[in-house]
Amino acid sequence: MAGRQASDLATTVVLEEVRMNNDIQDFFLCDNCANKNFAIVHNFSLRFHSVNFADRLIYDRLVDEVYQCTKCHKIFSKQEMEEGLRLKRKHREC
Ligand SMILES: [Zn+2]
Repeated sequence: MAGRQASDLATTVVLEEVRMNNDIQDFFLCDNCANKNFAIVHNFSLRFHSVNFADRLIYDRLVDEVYQCTKCHKIFSKQEMEEGLRLKRKHREC
């Protein structure tokens, strides 16, 4: 998605830890510049597919959401963002 490569889904995730009283807040950070702020970017597309025994194509309208680092403009997919937070949660639970 958006020029990202599968190797970008490596298990190394950069996160920032902020401690307030007894709470710990972990931020997903851009692995390129360590920024923690992201803008939501939508892209819109039509996905065409054929139906059995018909010449006609039907389509789905898709709206995808990706996250763009506000500093270096690197794009992260929703999947990458959630995987990063999931790994951090896993790390905390151990
Ligand atoms: Zn960045």
